Parts: sequence; structure tokens; C-alpha cells
Amino acid sequence: MSRFRWACLLARTAVLLIAGSGLAVAQDLGTLETRTLPPLAKPDDPNTPAKDLFGRKVQPAANMAARSIGYYTHGCLAGGVLLPINGPTWQVMRISRNRNWGHPNLVKTLERLANKAPSIGWPGLLIGDMAQPRGGPMLTGHWSHQVGLDADVWLTPMPERELSRKEREEMMANNVVADDWMDVNPKIWSDKYIALYKMVAKDPEIERVLANPAIKKALCRDVKGDRSWLHKVRPVYGHNYHFHIRIGCPADSPECKGQPVPPSDEGCGADLDWWFQKKNLNPAPGGVRKPVLMSALPAACKQVLISN
Ligand SMILES: [Zn+2]
Repeated sequence: MSRFRWACLLARTAVLLIAGSGLAVAQDLGTLETRTLPPLAKPDDPNTPAKDLFGRKVQPAANMAARSIGYYTHGCLAGGVLLPINGPTWQVMRISRNRNWGHPNLVKTLERLANKAPSIGWPGLLIGDMAQPRGGPMLTGHWSHQVGLDADVWLTPMPERELSRKEREEMMANNVVADDWMDVNPKIWSDKYIALYKMVAKDPEIERVLANPAIKKALCRDVKGDRSWLHKVRPVYGHNYHFHIRIGCPADSPECKGQPVPPSDEGCGADLDWWFQKKNLNPAPGGVRKPVLMSALPAACKQVLISN
């Protein structure tokens, strides 16, 4: 990668970090060149951020059974499996990031959802970031996605052709939210999005679907008939180009820390209104978070990191 490209990427990363609240304003581009990070000068220094260590692992640890260790925002993944970059009804985007890894339950869930997509008029799903090969914190983006149980899915239907490598790195997803963040964009929003959120949220493995508050607002207003799944759609900043699915702790993962299931009410009342108050719509930048160190992750993550 040219020095200029690196500078652009770093600048963009800085903007995202400064935003702090997760208000990513645009999608990051990938790269067509093979990107190898330089070795760390002091990998054993306890002050080395865990993201610098996990971000350099390009393969899962060999011979480790699958298990998710820790919490979605503080953990790692043993025995991660790869979602193939092409399936009959899905394609993986931003391949250069090497983040199409997950616990086998996540991979199975994505394949199941993708297989169902044609039945609601989506030719297939475009899959964004899942986890790194050994999970853990990432060098760019995402506070979660660390234990192999989170995945992002684009709000653009999969085209009925195989996307080129360049398209996968540089194409942008649909932004379904209006510029003022108060509602969805009526030129883009349609029943096909409602059908998509419904299909995903009704899947028994899915515990949460993270969506922009404007999308939740539109669902609260527009969903007719069966509303039993609305409580799983949780409002959060960003998430206007993609939605984020989260599955629960797998039975094979005793060190996985789950999240309480969302409350059963629809979440269409005062809790949702909070997001549209002026002070919450455009929160002040949250500043740069201190990077997570290995000492803050479950002890078993050290073994996942150092295994061959
Ligand atoms: Zn996500």
C-alpha cells in the first residue's frame, strides 16, 4: 500500500476514534494490496494493546476446539471457523480485513439466514465484519465482535452476480437513514427492509439485532401483524449501512459471558424517544478510549494468542 493510502486510512481511523460514540459517518474502504503489519518491537510488554497482538494473527490457533471466551467487548475466540467468501446466497465484503471468522454457531446462523433470504425477495446477503481469526480487540472499528458471536450484514441486497475483489473493497452499502437522523430515507426504505429485519430477528439463535434508532422508529411505525420480534431490534448509533446480529453463548463455551436477553416489550416508547432528543441525536465526541490490555481479557485469551 502506498504511503498516501496508509495516511488516508490512519486519518480516517483517527476521525472514527475521535467520534468515540460509534457514529461512523461513512464506511471504511478495504485495500486490494496484501497488507502485512510490521512486527511489534515489544510484543511481550504488558502495556502492548491487545488489538496490536490479535490484529497480527492471520490464522486461528491450531488444534483448539471452538469456544467463545469472555464478553462480546472483552474476549477472544478459540477454534474460529471461516465463513467462505462466496456461498450460494452470500458474499463476504472487505475481504482484505480477514474478519470473516466466527464461532461455528455464528457461521451456521449466517448461512441459514442467507439461505432464507431469497424467500423474502433478497437474492442473498452481503456479509461485513465478523471476528478476527482468534477474535479479540481489533485495530480499527468495533468495540465488540471479539468472541466470534457478532456479525455485520449490509443493507444492500446481494447482486445476482459475483462481485469483483475491487467492488468488495470499495463498494458502499445503502444508507437507509435520512441525513437528519430523525427517520429512514423514504426513497430507500421499503417493505423489503422490514421483511429482512423480521426474518433475522425471528431466528431463534439471534438474541439482538442492532439498528440505528431511525430504523427502529420506522419498524415501530410500519410493522403490521406479527410484532413479536420487535424487542430484539435494539437502537444504537451508526448501524445505518448495516445491521449487527448477536447470538448467545454457545453450549460449548463455559467461559463465555452472556448478555441478558432484551426486555420483552417492543421498545417503541420513551426509551426510543430518548435517542431523538437533540442532545442525544448529536452527542459530544466521546474522546479516545484507552486500549484494552491483555491483562483486562480473560486469562485463557493469552493461550489463544500464543498457541501455534
Ligand atoms: Zn457490528
